[in-house]
Amino acid sequence: EILRVELGERSYPIIIGEGLLQQAATLLQEGGIAGGTRLFIITDENVAPRYLSLLQDELISAGFPVHACVIPAGEQSKSIAMYETVMTQAIQAGLDRKSVILALGGGVVGDLAGFVAATYMRGISFVQLPTTLLAHDSSVGGKVAINHPLGKNLIGAFHQPRMVLYDTAAISTLPERERAAGFAEVLKHGLIADERFVSWLEEHAEKLWELDSELLSKAILRGCQVKANIVSADETEQGQRALLNLGHTFGHAFEALAEYAKLNHGEAISIGMCLAAKVAERLKVAEDGVYERTRNLLRQYHLPTEWPLSLEPLEVLEVMKRDKKAVSGKLALVLPRSIGVVELFAQVDEALIMTVMNEEAGAS
Ligand code: NAD
Ligand code: ZN
Repeated sequence: EILRVELGERSYPIIIGEGLLQQAATLLQEGGIAGGTRLFIITDENVAPRYLSLLQDELISAGFPVHACVIPAGEQSKSIAMYETVMTQAIQAGLDRKSVILALGGGVVGDLAGFVAATYMRGISFVQLPTTLLAHDSSVGGKVAINHPLGKNLIGAFHQPRMVLYDTAAISTLPERERAAGFAEVLKHGLIADERFVSWLEEHAEKLWELDSELLSKAILRGCQVKANIVSADETEQGQRALLNLGHTFGHAFEALAEYAKLNHGEAISIGMCLAAKVAERLKVAEDGVYERTRNLLRQYHLPTEWPLSLEPLEVLEVMKRDKKAVSGKLALVLPRSIGVVELFAQVDEALIMTVMNEEAGAS
């Protein structure tokens, strides 16, 4: 499957299929990256033992000079210190303006490698080779970033990849919780924009969960497409792009308050999407049944939908208000109208949000 993300002269293809890592050299060349171009692979300690030598062998045998840089796995690597370490290795490897950085891994590797590419000699090309399902989200949109001790993604840039090569075979080795978390964003893209896609996800849930290669390619493609459509309409984040935050205002607050070991990003937004649906039904802006269908869909993909036990609704609300600079008792929230249709409501009553959260916390 091939999708073109249309962004004028920064348009790029996302190629999705099984076994693409073994065809990387040809695909790079077809994408205009000439043989002989110096390549710098950035990957992490979980991905490297599984896929690095496969990729390196393929590239070296096609005549590309290749360097590899393996970083520790996990969000901690999106740091200023790791940025400096990787930069140092890039300089020592002799990368020049024509060299290309390859990001082999999940969103952490993609965000860090993308930011290195955006700033190395004022910007060089990079190619994403995602190995997680969640990375279908980060491979579209061109946002690259590292974290500052005072906040996530505070240091970053917009830098579009030259291409994305998505090998669905790599996803098979993801731990189950990461698989579910990735599906959370796929489902979100359905819930935001495409009722038919949601029906399809409901119908094929079992096989998709088992990572049936053909279905998985289609799901990633459609997820990327929904995001790409929104991003192309709104590249630097004004209106439409806010819709991608479905479940995220709640989700970010949960993430800020819960231990990561108990709640990862996908799990947090899963619960967040349920709450958004509940609030929407309570406000009577959503059709009846939206909450139930949202919840059942998320459950089909092994995602949590109940209030995170350890959290206090009032604390969650406080974090949500900080996150969104609430105006006098009102919060901006993306809420569903129906399955596949969402809208940004600029002024949702805090008291109503509290009522819904208290009910949920009481019920769990
Ligand atoms: P990740 O890169 O940390 O990967 C999750 C875990 O899976 C890691 O431990 C990793 O080592 C491991 N892993 C990766 N591929 C594997 C494979 N094929 N087999 C076995 N293990 C594998 O995290 P993620 O969930 O992919 O991405 C999360 C990051 O993405 C966050 O930092 C988030 O901020 C960022 N993000 C960015 C955007 C964007 O638009 N730029 C969008 C969404 C998320
Ligand atoms: Zn997200």
